[in-house]
Amino acid sequence: MHSEFDIVVIGAGHAGVEAALAASRMGMAVGCITLSADTIAKMPCNPAIGGLAKGQMVLEVDALGGEMGRAIDAAMIHFKMLNMSKGPAVRAPRAQADKAEYTAYMRRVMESAPGLTIIYDMAVGIETEGGAVSAVVGRGGRYGARAVILTAGTFLDGLMHIGLENRPGGRDDEPAAIGITESLEKLGITSGRLKTGTPPRLAKDSIDWSRVTPQPGDENIIPFSHATEAVDRPMVPCHITYTSGQTHEIIRGSLDRSPLYSGCIKGVGPRYCPSIEDKVVKFPNRPRHQVFLEPEGLKTDWIYANGISTSLPRDVQEKIVRSIAGLEEAQILRHGYAIEYDYFPPGQLHPWLETKAVKNLFHAGQVNGTSGYEEAAGQGLVAGVNAVRSLRGEEPLVLGRDEAYVGVLIDDLVTRGTSEPYRMFTSRAEYRLLLRADNTDRRLMRYGYENGLIDESAFTRSQTKLKTVAEIREHLNNTFREGKSLGKFLRRRENSWRDLLASEPGLAGRNLPDDFWDAVEIEEKYGGYIERQQAQVERFRKLEDRPVPADFDYESIKGLRTESRKKLMEVKPISLGQASRIPGVNPADISILLVALHRRRRE
Ligand SMILES: Cc1cc2nc3c(=O)[nH]c(=O)nc-3n(C[C@H](O)[C@H](O)[C@H](O)COP(=O)(O)OP(=O)(O)OC[C@H]3O[C@@H](n4cnc5c(N)ncnc54)[C@H](O)[C@@H]3O)c2cc1C
Repeated sequence: MHSEFDIVVIGAGHAGVEAALAASRMGMAVGCITLSADTIAKMPCNPAIGGLAKGQMVLEVDALGGEMGRAIDAAMIHFKMLNMSKGPAVRAPRAQADKAEYTAYMRRVMESAPGLTIIYDMAVGIETEGGAVSAVVGRGGRYGARAVILTAGTFLDGLMHIGLENRPGGRDDEPAAIGITESLEKLGITSGRLKTGTPPRLAKDSIDWSRVTPQPGDENIIPFSHATEAVDRPMVPCHITYTSGQTHEIIRGSLDRSPLYSGCIKGVGPRYCPSIEDKVVKFPNRPRHQVFLEPEGLKTDWIYANGISTSLPRDVQEKIVRSIAGLEEAQILRHGYAIEYDYFPPGQLHPWLETKAVKNLFHAGQVNGTSGYEEAAGQGLVAGVNAVRSLRGEEPLVLGRDEAYVGVLIDDLVTRGTSEPYRMFTSRAEYRLLLRADNTDRRLMRYGYENGLIDESAFTRSQTKLKTVAEIREHLNNTFREGKSLGKFLRRRENSWRDLLASEPGLAGRNLPDDFWDAVEIEEKYGGYIERQQAQVERFRKLEDRPVPADFDYESIKGLRTESRKKLMEVKPISLGQASRIPGVNPADISILLVALHRRRRE
């Protein structure tokens, strides 16, 4: 088989679907190569989308014109707005998904996307011509492409471990993908090895539900996507239970059979998502650890045991599970396992996710050293947009650290690199008061609109909201009741916009949607902090707006320390701001670089 495409995407996981959909919606002929139809946007681990910082990223993907928000709205079975008692900067939506429905939804969208062809094959190599990518070679054919986006997840040379047994595999019963790593290494791209893991799945009917505590979801479900009017679906509760002293004893007594502790696993695992054996070893004084029992869907018996990810042998897993309250009789449907896989250290990428070694070859998702569906989706969308923009000769889309968590994620990856699976946290964003869940339309919709991924009506609504919120705030601060402005009334902790409308029928009569009022309230209540953070952003922008030419000759700058020169030559920062964030480049180096840039401009 031989076919020609503008863009070929390798992989139809969370990064691949966003990349393929964005590129095809932008008018390109796209081929998306994947191993199976049943695994499009599959969730191989937890059945949930969103969470702290991750929820914000789903909303960002949605505002940029991606699909993840719509998919989770169509497939959720449990919803919670996290941190409701805290400030708006850290509030974030999280939803449990019906895994099968999520995959089926994404498959339908992919299959009906004009200009998008799904190819069931295994990619084994990448070809180039004159330093630019030219084709993907599969087992079943050769696929010509002007740009390629690699989103192969955990499949590259994947090795699955349970106890001291291991075998090649991409995840569950899927094959490992061999060939791509070797092909990229020949093109000068280096690879590394990472590891992740997953907990056992339990049979619903074998759990004693009377011994575990229900965790109901919120009644008020706020859709993830701007395009969803309301979510009206059956919801189910999750439950919580705990490991016991006996669990910890079993684990301690089995560490010699753990692939992690016996040295079988060489790849570095996610520090922030540790296995239960890691938790027991690292926190010996903790009497118990939480275990969330999360249904994997409405029509399945599978329960995901969130909190006991493990690669211990099967017989030990049985004992661990049975030592947990409510799980004494639980039947394991699938044992937990760990997987090691190849990734490509992301310092080898430009900030628009194109590899520095090969023109028009983009990388997104787990292959860049990240972990998580949302992290993958954000990168997939940016890579898809930038592959198209590159083919059209347009400037790339690079989101700022002050604009999006997705911007923080990509900047961290390409500037600092990562040697362990990277997941997003609110603490990674210095301007998190600006990167809120409630204002993604304001921050990002114009990019989605400019790229043709957000339609006119959604964009117009976001502009109307912006204008109306500003108008109302002005009105509130110029309208006085008993000597106090309405703005002051709303700024008081105990008052909400609903209290304001109850006392101001004129405002209530405007019949504005809730999200308009939420924005008014947040901007009034946190206005001082927001302004302060915006002032910091202005200072940050001064450095970010000073571009460093791609061909800048660092060798010729006198006074730069050797370490700094080496790092700058490796990363090739696009701005002085990015240069200042490279580990090992200090403020004195930045001053020297600044003088050299001035000199070059004068010359
Ligand atoms: C066992 C396990 C545990 C995990 N645990 C966690 C966790 O605790 N927390 C967390 O946040 N994330 C976890 N993850 C990671 C999460 O699943 C990924 O971060 C996310 O799915 C990455 O998305 P992706 O699109 O990069 O890759 P994936 O979703 O893995 O998709 C890869 C796609 O590429 C295709 N593919 C691969 N190679 C080829 C090839 N050569 N040719 C054609 N198609 C190919 C596959 O068919 C698949 O469609 C875990 C993953 C696994 C496997």
